[in-house]
Amino acid sequence: MKLIGHEREKVLVRRLLEKGYDSLSLLFEGVNCIGKKMLALYAARAYLCDKREGFGCGECKDCRLIDNTIMNVYEKSNLTPHHDLMLIQSDNSEIKIDQIREIGEFLKLKGDKGKVVIVEKAENMNTESSNAFLKTLEEPPEGTLIILTTSNQAKLIPTILSRLKKVKFRKLGQEEVESILLLKGIQEKKAKMLSEMADGSMCLPVYFLENEVIYNYSKDLYRLILNPEHREGLLSLSSNLENLQPQQIIKVFDIIYTLLGKDVASGKVRTELFEKFIREYEILIKAISNGVKKKLVIEGFFLRLIQ
Ligand SMILES: [Zn+2]
Repeated sequence: MKLIGHEREKVLVRRLLEKGYDSLSLLFEGVNCIGKKMLALYAARAYLCDKREGFGCGECKDCRLIDNTIMNVYEKSNLTPHHDLMLIQSDNSEIKIDQIREIGEFLKLKGDKGKVVIVEKAENMNTESSNAFLKTLEEPPEGTLIILTTSNQAKLIPTILSRLKKVKFRKLGQEEVESILLLKGIQEKKAKMLSEMADGSMCLPVYFLENEVIYNYSKDLYRLILNPEHREGLLSLSSNLENLQPQQIIKVFDIIYTLLGKDVASGKVRTELFEKFIREYEILIKAISNGVKKKLVIEGFFLRLIQ
C-alpha cells in the first residue's frame, strides 16, 4: 500500500517523531478521504519499527504486523494485526465512552517498544467520551503515540485540542488523485475523469466507483452543463435519467452542485450559470417530489439553464 501525496505533512510528522518525546499526541486535521488515517498508520509503523527510520523499514516483524493492519483496513483482509496498535474507526456514528475506556485499558499494558492509539473521526466523540479521553491525554503512559484524525476540529473540546500537536493536511492534487486511482487498477481515461471531478479528495471517486449508475449520469450531465452546445447529449441523458429513482436524481444534482461550486471558485464556470443552476435545481427538486414526470422536469431544467 503506497502513501501518495502529503510530502510536506510527512516531513512534519517525521520531524515530530524524531524529537524523542516520552509520549506524543497528534491531531491530523483536513478534509475527508485524503489519507489522514493512512499516514497515521504509517506513523505507527515508524514508531514501533525496530530501526525507527523513515516510516518504518518495512522488513522487521513490527513493520510487517502494521502492514497487516493496513491491509485489514484498506483491503478488508483478515491478517494478524499489530498487538501494540489500537485503531478506533468510526463511520458517522458516535464514539462511545466504552471505546475510550478500552483505550485506557490498552495503554495500561506495557508494549514491546511502545503503544499507538489512532482515533479516526475524533469529532464523533460525545461529551462523555471527550472528557474520558482528556484524562488519557493528560497523563499518557511513557512510550505512547496518540493520533486523532478529524475533518472538523471545531467539534473537539478546547482542552483536548490544547494537548495535541496539530498537523494540517492539504487536499490532494489532481495528479495525486489520478495516481491513487491508477494504483487501484482503474483504467486511465476513467481515472482522469474521476480525478477532475474529485476536488482534491478521494470521497467522490470512491463513491462513484461504488455507484456506477450515479457516476455515469453525473459525468454526462456535468459535461453537458459545461458544453451546452452539444444538445444532442440532452436527449439520451433525459431518457436515461428517467430510469433513476428520485433519490438518485437528487444525489446526481447534489454532486453537480458541488462540482459547479468548485468550478465557480476556480473561474472555470461563470457565477451567473451557477446561480441559474441553483434556481433551477430548487424547481427540479420540488417538481420531482411532487411526482411530475421526470423526463419533462429534466428537459425543462436544462432548456431553461442554457437559455
Ligand atoms: Zn521496521
